[in-house]
Amino acid sequence: TTLVADVSAMLRDVPDFPKPGIVFKDITPVLADPRLFGRVINAMAAPFRGQHITKVVGVEARGFLLGAPIALALHAGFVPARKPGKLPYKSVVEKYSLEYGADGLEMHEDALHKGERVLIVDDVLATGGTAEATSRLVKKLGGELVGYSFLIHLAFLDGVKRLGPDKVTSLLSF
Ligand code: IMP
Repeated sequence: TTLVADVSAMLRDVPDFPKPGIVFKDITPVLADPRLFGRVINAMAAPFRGQHITKVVGVEARGFLLGAPIALALHAGFVPARKPGKLPYKSVVEKYSLEYGADGLEMHEDALHKGERVLIVDDVLATGGTAEATSRLVKKLGGELVGYSFLIHLAFLDGVKRLGPDKVTSLLSF
């Protein structure tokens, strides 16, 4: 069976979470299956092999779970992009609006060296606001954004347009 079919079968749709009208894609059953988890990491890293990625930036919180093993697969370092107030050291911040509310993201001010080749990882691309804010943080710190790797892309929300279609890869589209 194909990876797309196997992941689709394991994803759980949770209606009305975290708000009425939103159908939340729950990836925890995928993470819990060791073979499937490994195949997902491999497939999300594959388009960026040989592209000299030096840092993977994972977006809190599910972007950490996927981004850290993808970083190891690419022999790159891992950098967390966190919700405001969570990082211990001096940080830079970007505000953004979200499918359900407004928020901000922070990275440590010394998390990237100038010219580092960066891959941004998250579980779901919805409106693109979160990933776009992350890309602004990467640019602020002098990183060169090579691309984005998502497990799931909610295509009806047009997030790809905000990020640049040539830079976005995802395993599944809904
Ligand atoms: P965006 O900023 O609208 O693209 O929303 C993407 C962010 O919201 C990501 O950090 C996702 O983890 C989260 N998100 C949005 N929809 C879902 C979903 O259905 N399942 C899991 N996470 C989601």
